[in-house]
Amino acid sequence: MEFSDFGNRFSATSGIGVLMDDLGELLASDREYLMLGGGNPARIPAVVAEYRACMTRLAADENRFFSAVGSYDAPGGAAILVNALVQLFNDAYGWDLDASNIVLTNGSQNAFFLLFNMFAGERNGVQRNILLPMTPEYIGYEDVAIKENFFVSQKPLIDIVGEKRFKYRIDLDRLDVSNNIAAICVSRPTNPTGNVITDAELDSLDQLALSQGIPLIIDNAYGEPFPDIIHSKVSLRWHPNIILSMSLSKLGLPALRSGIIIAAPEVTRTIRQMNAIINLTPGSLGPAMISELFESGEILNLSRNHIKPFYRHKAEQALRWFDQTHEDLPAFAHSAEGSIFLWLWFQELPITADELYQRLKKRGVIIVPGQYFFPGIDSSWRHCHECIRVNYAMDDATVQQGIAIIAEEVKKAYKNK
Ligand code: PLP
Repeated sequence: MEFSDFGNRFSATSGIGVLMDDLGELLASDREYLMLGGGNPARIPAVVAEYRACMTRLAADENRFFSAVGSYDAPGGAAILVNALVQLFNDAYGWDLDASNIVLTNGSQNAFFLLFNMFAGERNGVQRNILLPMTPEYIGYEDVAIKENFFVSQKPLIDIVGEKRFKYRIDLDRLDVSNNIAAICVSRPTNPTGNVITDAELDSLDQLALSQGIPLIIDNAYGEPFPDIIHSKVSLRWHPNIILSMSLSKLGLPALRSGIIIAAPEVTRTIRQMNAIINLTPGSLGPAMISELFESGEILNLSRNHIKPFYRHKAEQALRWFDQTHEDLPAFAHSAEGSIFLWLWFQELPITADELYQRLKKRGVIIVPGQYFFPGIDSSWRHCHECIRVNYAMDDATVQQGIAIIAEEVKKAYKNK
């Protein structure tokens, strides 16, 4: 069959597509793997119990249940959740949102596909790009362009911040927005690194975006006020030049596929129309199931009192296991300031992170090699091949054993160089 350029763009094999197929095959195989590779959130009993109770109440109410499964919502998503979010954000931050500032999508991955293609790509014959002010960045951005890739990015500054810790910083002096930049985007907290860019860094990006008349997109999938998997003291910002993306996924609900965009009405209106054309409407079941937690504000308690401390403990524990097992290696972990991942850097690693991934797979441990997280960066930069991402949301025994095996394989690699 002959596909169009659009079809071919998606049927071409991407590095991440191959990796995801690989992970899928591993999951389906008989062998038990220590799965530290994917982005699944943890199973937190008190939180799951709350969601089950919501689902039970929904199923028990015939009218609510029928309207959740038996009718299409408006293209902007379920009004019950949109209105609850308006109230919640205005109460928590003193913002002045109304329903025209919020639109729901089928997950935030879907939102980024719509947003990036809405701003970047060809305009009047000129290619316009999305600026990622710092890599490593979220793997899911990489292949969303419907035509040529449109990411412009730059290497981070690397600060050693402790015996076995480092932190990335945006190289603000070298940031260039002159080159047909359509929008700036940053994930905060960052997947894969656990970095949280500081308020000062965010202010600089905000000013830059305002001065160029382009939007600043903040991917707040792990941030406050929900799921609140953020451990450094920073503040959340929004004004009409900021497009804030949120998600229900890291609350432990990725299967609901619910994303939230908070933006100026001209942005939300276009996303609403895109929803209508592509999806008719975003899924209704998720909002119907959990809106009551947003209306009552209970979602903030769950985030603050259960989800945040749970992941903080997981991060501290994973770092402790890393320190114990990598003591005499030139290995560093990124400061774990948020999200659900450890980002490990093996300085001057004699093999590539991809080769390390293959060796770990043979040992039954699955991680994600670092090179996939540097969209727009020349892959000859050695640092891209010296890092790996490890998800620490899994059960303790899996994480501890996995980290110990990583140390063994890395030790072997340095020894046999
Ligand atoms: N943004 C970041 C930073 C993520 O880590 C993820 C998922 O891992 C997403 C967006 C997409 O999440 P979802 O489509 O489940 O809302």
